[in-house]
Amino acid sequence: MEFSRNQEGRGPNALGADYLWWWIDSHTGECFGMLVQAKRLKRSGKGWRVDVTHREGKQLGDLLRTAEHLEVPAVYAVYTGGLVFREPLACRHGAQAGPDPKPEPEPDEECLACRRMAISMVTAYQLNMGWYDPEMTADLVLSESVPVEDLVDPAVPSPAVWDLNLRELTNPQLRDFLLKPQGGAREIARRIFRLVADHRRGAFSAASAELLPVPGAPIFPDVPEDRGHFPGPYYRHVLQGLRSSPPNYVEALRRPPTVDELWDSSPNSDGDIGRIVVAGGTPAGRRPPPELQDTNIAGVVLITL
Ligand SMILES: [Zn+2]
Repeated sequence: MEFSRNQEGRGPNALGADYLWWWIDSHTGECFGMLVQAKRLKRSGKGWRVDVTHREGKQLGDLLRTAEHLEVPAVYAVYTGGLVFREPLACRHGAQAGPDPKPEPEPDEECLACRRMAISMVTAYQLNMGWYDPEMTADLVLSESVPVEDLVDPAVPSPAVWDLNLRELTNPQLRDFLLKPQGGAREIARRIFRLVADHRRGAFSAASAELLPVPGAPIFPDVPEDRGHFPGPYYRHVLQGLRSSPPNYVEALRRPPTVDELWDSSPNSDGDIGRIVVAGGTPAGRRPPPELQDTNIAGVVLITL
């Protein structure tokens, strides 16, 4: 669902626009939300770039701040193009197959992972350290992301998440969550959490399992406060998005809009943009709910599981 905004030059799929995605379990009401910003993989000479340096990194900072405000993790959806565009890029998906490094095949249609990586999801936490270097960012995206299709495909194997703090965890439900495959919104949260947990393991600093409360309606109310080299405690950053019920604004958006929520963003004769449409005649968009009005969110995507 797109919001009508009185901002110019912002198409529905504009790169850089933020969308809130909510995966909602229709049986349990549990849900997982994430703030998603679209980016694109680009070629430069022999290398590859994903540029998150917009406004000297302020865009990344804004994304993280908005995500904290909305109590969801910040995620990039990186469009990596089709197989033809990626032809010079070696397939990386057979790398763990055996001890002998095999000659790297070019991306081909036989490799499901190559086909699926067209839209690759990676958290802002993973990219935060090297944000100023688009080639480093591209490398991180290509090596540490998960295809959007794999987030929801139950056929994709879901091994244990070997998080650095696992041994210190005292909450048996949280341990189970990391060690065993889950269903619905929990499994999507788990597949996003795996990205940061794997990244955390690569940073050699001592873990800290002091507990920290999670805001909202969390399924796991206390989590380790460890932040590694991330901008904040990573358990809380991801798992605040995993809730026992959706936030109020999601419930509101699932109902048909009331007259007050309709918003016409086409310029009127006075040159003003943005007015409430009381009667039909003009295509009207939906006014963002109050919780989202001070944010840059261009729309909310509700996915029922
Ligand atoms: Zn591949």
